[in-house]
Amino acid sequence: MDVKRIRKDFPILSIKVKGNDLVYFDNGATTQKPLSVIKAVEHYNENLNGNPHRGAHYLGVTSTEAYEGAREKVRAFIGAEKSSEIIFTRNTTESLNLIAYSYGLNFVNKGDEIVIAISEHHSNILPWQMVARVKGAVLKYMYTNEEGRITEEEYKSKITDKTKIVSIAQVSNVLGTKYPVKDIVKYAHEKGAVAIVDGAQSTPHMKVDVSDLDTDFFVFSGHKMLASMGIGVLYGKEKFLLEMPPFLGGGDMIEYVTEQDATFAELPFKFEAGTQNVEGAVSLGAAIDYLNSIGLDKIEAYEEELTEYALKKISDIDYVTVYGPKSAKNKGGIISFNVKDVHPHDVATILNNYGVAVRSGHHCAQPLMKHLGIQASSRASFYFYNTYEEIDKFIEALKNVRKWLGYGRS
Ligand code: PLP
Repeated sequence: MDVKRIRKDFPILSIKVKGNDLVYFDNGATTQKPLSVIKAVEHYNENLNGNPHRGAHYLGVTSTEAYEGAREKVRAFIGAEKSSEIIFTRNTTESLNLIAYSYGLNFVNKGDEIVIAISEHHSNILPWQMVARVKGAVLKYMYTNEEGRITEEEYKSKITDKTKIVSIAQVSNVLGTKYPVKDIVKYAHEKGAVAIVDGAQSTPHMKVDVSDLDTDFFVFSGHKMLASMGIGVLYGKEKFLLEMPPFLGGGDMIEYVTEQDATFAELPFKFEAGTQNVEGAVSLGAAIDYLNSIGLDKIEAYEEELTEYALKKISDIDYVTVYGPKSAKNKGGIISFNVKDVHPHDVATILNNYGVAVRSGHHCAQPLMKHLGIQASSRASFYFYNTYEEIDKFIEALKNVRKWLGYGRS
């Protein structure tokens, strides 16, 4: 992969931070945009903008074509059967809430069990806590082992005949672990449960095929894969989407409205109430084109090499603790760590002085923090535009963190 050339497509990567070249290692939070995405949004606003599905006039048609064209790109990108199974949302969080409110509140009953992993992002915990509370269901957790993995024994002991929903991230946003979601989905189905996969940290980095996974629902965010913020996706198998009631009511999602009642539009419009984020969808379509032009297989392989390199270097520093798998095999490009005696916020602030951007805090995964016995961590997360040289800069800066605070001077 010609990373040097690829980096030219991303103007923001050449900015300076405190006199240093930016080293952007916060891709788990959000990714940067290539010129083709920036330009696609500009082109849409300069030439095509209108309210889709509503106007018979020229711009009503062009905006509809832009919006529906993006939906078709998403369908093909994740291997869904029909574009009517692709619902645009704001983000992963909204997609998961849609499933919880529409499917969970209507199909989960008292005493049913909902099973999730301890490493879930809060957006895959809070909606299920709500469903469990309202419906009198039980929320159960699959725990990660010392390596940061969920074993077959663990998921088979938690998913039972009582399980109604299993919801799990394909890649943990803290540990980086790639979980065996295909096996987990299969087992969930054997037990009669519905399976949901959170693809927020996988879809940008590896080839996803929802038909092969056979998952009932799949969710992800555009901004973590080169697109704008405010556009997300919910994929659902048609048979579930048809039986689920709308999540929000309003314009564009109805068939017919009377004083006391309404019937609803066909899929996917039943779940897209009100004016939608068309320029966001356009940006996602352009992001998909860009990712396809490189190839998800190449992206995954390169990120694995980069992560292996970083893991080796970081494990040479004896006062740094890494959480999650210590090898890049079956791990995404995410490394969470702590520096002995230094708060993660101080680590991130000191690294910023060297132009290195990492995340610090609980990463919206407080139950996992508790499970790991920590309050917080720092997190470096990579994308295909990152380089070995950047990892070297990060490691050199990391070696200076304790010195900044006076450790090792006396
Ligand atoms: N799920 C996972 C695994 C994530 O990493 C994130 C964001 O970091 C989310 C869900 C929520 O994504 P968003 O904030 O785009 O809704």
